[in-house]
Amino acid sequence: MKTASPTRLLILGGTAEARELAARCRDELPGLQVTSSLAGRTRAPLLPAGALRSGGFGGAEGLRRYLREYRIDRLIDATHPFAAAISAAAVAACEAAAVPRLVLRRSPWLPQPNDRWLPVADMTAAAAALAAPGLGRRVLVASGSRGLSALADRNLLGHYFLIRLIEPQTLPDALAGAEILLARGPFAAAEERRLLQRRRISVVLAKNSGGAAGYGKIAAARALGLPVVLLQPPPPPPGRHVEDLDAALNWLDDAAP
Ligand code: NAP
Repeated sequence: MKTASPTRLLILGGTAEARELAARCRDELPGLQVTSSLAGRTRAPLLPAGALRSGGFGGAEGLRRYLREYRIDRLIDATHPFAAAISAAAVAACEAAAVPRLVLRRSPWLPQPNDRWLPVADMTAAAAALAAPGLGRRVLVASGSRGLSALADRNLLGHYFLIRLIEPQTLPDALAGAEILLARGPFAAAEERRLLQRRRISVVLAKNSGGAAGYGKIAAARALGLPVVLLQPPPPPPGRHVEDLDAALNWLDDAAP
């Protein structure tokens, strides 16, 4: 069993990796006081081991104050690759408070032979891509809850949307005909394939989030020869990145004075 040198760690979470990290810290670094932070968007989030706080900090300045007030020694940014605002706030706050920061993040997926990806920068570009002829009009929207109003585009009026969400949310009127599928991943490729076939989906809208948990739909689309309109992740925050939990735990050890 390792001995933790830093004593107070803040994990910026909201991902499976962040929960796994909190559990490993509890089991392997018992001297470390770990607090996980969630944005508080999901009403019934999957909870990490150990202490939890929820809700925004109030930008970089609010996070800097939090780091000072709670005398945080180390911060690990284990947020989702698309959560650019909180990652940018962590960069500024850690610098201002002189708190060492590590980014725990999966790499984006790379295209494999037979993938039919249409990379797009944002949901507006995704809506434009979906309106292009030749993709069909039955869309599995597996890109999360944000930016869905972009799909209320008049060029997409004849489209059928199957929108998969973790929790119900209010949609724009123009999406009143969309079908909502409430489900929480991960979904295996075989399960995704059955969904795509059963609903006669012609195109998938997804985020290039990397990692195994969301990959089932990508593999299923490939197997069925379906196109995927794929949102590209924002540029990663600066600083040291690791992809696996062992490396993150080593960083906590190595960061010892
Ligand atoms: P975002 O755009 O980077 O953040 C928006 C604001 O939410 C931040 O400025 C911050 O508010 C607050 N916030 C975000 N993450 C937080 C955290 N872990 N703890 C405390 N406050 C947080 O983030 P987002 O894309 O909305 O994602 C929100 C959360 O959901 C993140 O924790 C992320 O890991 C998780 N998540 C996101 C996605 C996705 O596709 N974006 C997917 C799965 C999970 P203040 O400015 O007030 O501090």
